[in-house]
Amino acid sequence: MARPDSFLVIGLGRFGRALAETLVSLGHEVLGVDSDPRIVQDCAQGLTHVVQADATDAETLRQLGAADFGGAVVAIGNDVEASILATYALVDIKVGRIWAKAITAAHGAILQRVGAHRVVFPERDMGERVAHTMVGRTIDYLELDEAFVLIETTVPKAMAGKTLLEAEVRRRHRVTVVCVKQPGGSFDYATPETLLHPDDLIVVAGDRERAEAFAALE
Ligand code: ADP
Repeated sequence: MARPDSFLVIGLGRFGRALAETLVSLGHEVLGVDSDPRIVQDCAQGLTHVVQADATDAETLRQLGAADFGGAVVAIGNDVEASILATYALVDIKVGRIWAKAITAAHGAILQRVGAHRVVFPERDMGERVAHTMVGRTIDYLELDEAFVLIETTVPKAMAGKTLLEAEVRRRHRVTVVCVKQPGGSFDYATPETLLHPDDLIVVAGDRERAEAFAALE
């Protein structure tokens, strides 16, 4: 353990577990920590290192070598007090990068104030993302910041059979088509000569309102 690309994941609920297993699949060393022995047992298969411990206790975290991890994630959500105490303990130990999951805006503000370097709101963000996929032709939606988004969508009827140059996507709609995928194929970078077929998937990048308007075209 004790490598800069190793991570401590505290709280192995649905979010923490998925995050920890993904880090493992990306080749990182992960130590999972949960106070519930059944959860620890359940996670033993997917994670190489899992321990049962109360992560609100700085001394316990120190003994687990928390200071040597490149980063730590506090994935406790529902027990707000435990989430804040665990985050505070990691800050106290001076863990280099601390992510913390918040379930409300107030919870997030406290985590930030306590010293978390990055606060994430998975339920809120996923709710927003799914809502966007329920309207217009949006298939997936990724907000890069408040004003700029990436949208995976289908080809508007009026553009099928045209190249991007002919469709004048940039001039008319002020969005950039980043890549295009034909049915059964894989995504490829878009060029002005890229021909849009009726069943293609496209990813557009742009100002939020313009990209949303593009994905709402018939
Ligand atoms: P999710 O919504 O992602 O399932 P939860 O907040 O329900 O997240 O789950 C958080 C996990 O954190 C649970 O498995 C719980 O046992 C664990 N947990 C709660 N308090 C502590 C603590 N003090 N130390 C370590 N793990 C904890």
